[in-house]
Amino acid sequence: MSVKYRYEEFTWPEIREAVAQNRVPVLAVGTIEQHGPHLPLVTDVLTASEVARRAVERIPEQAVLMPPVYYAFNEHHLDFPGTIAIAGHTFIDYITDIGKSLAHHGFRRILLVNGHGSNVPFLDIAARLVTNQTEAICAMVPWWNLVDRALLAELRESAWPGGMAHACELETSVLLYLRGDLVQMDKAEPDFPPQRSEFFYWDLEKASPVYFQEFFSRYSRTGTLGDPTKATAEKGRRFLESAVDGLVRVIEDLRAREIHPRVDHH
Ligand SMILES: [Zn+2]
Repeated sequence: MSVKYRYEEFTWPEIREAVAQNRVPVLAVGTIEQHGPHLPLVTDVLTASEVARRAVERIPEQAVLMPPVYYAFNEHHLDFPGTIAIAGHTFIDYITDIGKSLAHHGFRRILLVNGHGSNVPFLDIAARLVTNQTEAICAMVPWWNLVDRALLAELRESAWPGGMAHACELETSVLLYLRGDLVQMDKAEPDFPPQRSEFFYWDLEKASPVYFQEFFSRYSRTGTLGDPTKATAEKGRRFLESAVDGLVRVIEDLRAREIHPRVDHH
């Protein structure tokens, strides 16, 4: 019999057993927001939850897959129809409460898998709060950070920086692979912000040195940022599989991590 790994399908005695086995709850967090004229609103949920699902499926005895979080912080996308924006504090509290509940039940190593660029600061804070306020440790990883950099450089055709930012070559490729039926390539077009510099740019391959986010409609005509016309399903398959390989290793690493006692030096 295959090992059960979807959290919501467990009974409470099975959750108690999963805690005893030191399994790592893996929570994918996406967002519902505009992704240009060619990709669906659910893009960031699909990418993060598929990377998480495939990784947990490979090592089900070591992890538990949580139902994904669909809604998140993205006020800056509201000028485009469809985006659902959750206030920053609400979002942080919501994720922190999920982590605290898991810690309450005895899980000690919790992993957030992020699918949305603007989730990064908020999920980082939520993971820290869970770690500081419970006996568990909680970490966060954006899935695109796990794509092997040599592979990214090999397959990438869009301009650096900016070609891979939002509804871009990377995201569109992965969506073409996962749900090609939801991608409207005839509507995809490159869109690069008029103002770019060595300090101010957006690219998923490497973050800019300056942290800054203004309303998307100020610098994107279409809601896209980057060049989705360079996307292919085959690239998407290789990007996604690379991220899954990386996530399997992250889960194993986090699971093996010792939690040392704190030392009060007063
Ligand atoms: Zn996205």
